[in-house]
Amino acid sequence: MNQSNKKYLEYIKNSGVNYFLQEEPRNWLESESKHHLKTTNNDNKIKKIQELIEKIRSHSSPLKETAKNLVVYDGNLDSKVMFIGEAPGRDEDLNGLPFVGNAGKLLNKMLAAINLKREEIYITNVINWRPPDNRTPTDDEILEFLPFLQEQIDIVNPDFIFLLGGVAAKSILSTPLALGKIRGIWHEYQSLKLNKKIYTIASYHPAFLLRSPQFKKASWEDLQMLQQKLNEKN
Ligand code: URA
Repeated sequence: MNQSNKKYLEYIKNSGVNYFLQEEPRNWLESESKHHLKTTNNDNKIKKIQELIEKIRSHSSPLKETAKNLVVYDGNLDSKVMFIGEAPGRDEDLNGLPFVGNAGKLLNKMLAAINLKREEIYITNVINWRPPDNRTPTDDEILEFLPFLQEQIDIVNPDFIFLLGGVAAKSILSTPLALGKIRGIWHEYQSLKLNKKIYTIASYHPAFLLRSPQFKKASWEDLQMLQQKLNEKN
């Protein structure tokens, strides 16, 4: 290990990011079934989400033609926290579940670092079909799928939304600003249907963090902001 790597590791350790950076993460996915974890007793929510899934499936989109599986959500329909990513990648397309590839493994570690389990949160994406070659969704596609995302927010009724990456921030916060400018502060998402404002924070996407680990410290700060709000609520 060269000197600058060593220094970086020390710096990261001192910044309190430990679990999140372990080489061998606890893989929450191993023991999970490949089905959505419908951890709610609320039949109404299950009915609504099933209807929404069918609505997205029958919505005609060019993305549907090249994708293998529809990817809507994983986790808990009763969760107070919703994580929103960009779009399914190869692994998600094959499995029909969001965040099951390498980015998903890092997301699980990020959650564990703030004492959250994957099955305690609701996870979804802006786009529900894999874009060809994992290309970034276009603005038109983001707008096309926004009503489906808004409907999920209204069904789940979270108190907090954590946006993973610029596409999720663009979709929910309608901002062209770069993540560096909008992360680290609480925003509000207004749900007209629920008639409530939802605390929303935007931070880096785990796939980006895998490529650019120097942003993990900022990501950790954003996660801690969420943890603090959750602790205040309990
Ligand atoms: N990246 C995302 O934005 N979503 C996924 O589900 C997987 C990778």
